[in-house]
Amino acid sequence: MKLYIVADMEGIAGVVADVQTGGASSYFEAARLQYTREIRSVCEAALSAGAEEVYVNDFHGNGLTLITDQLPREVMVIRGGFRPTSGYDLLDSTFTGLVLLGIHARSGTYGGVLPHTYSSKVSFEIFGQPVGEFDILALVAGEMKVPTILISGDSKAIEQAGTNMPSTHTVITKYSIGTDGALCVHPDKICEQLRDETKRALKNVSAIEPSQISGPTQLTIRLRDVSLAPRLEWIPGIKKTGDAVFEFTGSNMKAIANIVYGVATLVEAKF
Ligand SMILES: [Zn+2]
Repeated sequence: MKLYIVADMEGIAGVVADVQTGGASSYFEAARLQYTREIRSVCEAALSAGAEEVYVNDFHGNGLTLITDQLPREVMVIRGGFRPTSGYDLLDSTFTGLVLLGIHARSGTYGGVLPHTYSSKVSFEIFGQPVGEFDILALVAGEMKVPTILISGDSKAIEQAGTNMPSTHTVITKYSIGTDGALCVHPDKICEQLRDETKRALKNVSAIEPSQISGPTQLTIRLRDVSLAPRLEWIPGIKKTGDAVFEFTGSNMKAIANIVYGVATLVEAKF
């Protein structure tokens, strides 16, 4: 049994503001500790449930958030900045399941804590349905027949994930009050729930359906600021269908994931 964990920071217990997710501050250091504790809880539970291999993708920001010496020695960590396969590096069909830890709501979500999809300047749809980072990673894994067995994050993110992943186990870390506020569950309780749900999900793994789309997949890209449109116009295969709207058809989910990540990187670039 092999487990792949993608860890993000916005959906971790107690995280409600940008100052906690980056930069040099005591807020960031405290949040980083909790990020590490939650990842450790999932790793320990997976190993005690019989996992032979556990990979952790330190997915947030520059990919250097996790305090790696706090993890069990068996765990392998994927770290570092930009990669074309960011978020699903080395993921393949040999993995038993995917855990999406600390997820946040999709870009443009009203009432979600720190919502974005790699960027808050752009939002994405697949076949007309809104998608966020968690949908895309679950679909990439699903294409390899790897089910998303557990997700954790704020109540709005979990509500969104529930529509496409009804059989995935969940842990709600906080109840969203707005973009920068939430009613938070105690961090120790979240670690305990993550341990319990990881064990439950691994026991139940055969009943969890991988998220899947087959064949050519249609992606819609909506920019929130029309002045960013020229940054996308030159990309081969992307068709402009409105002032700030573009369409792309990918042959598989990896192609979609790469365009999403590339577009978000371009709109965020400083010139
Ligand atoms: Zn993040």
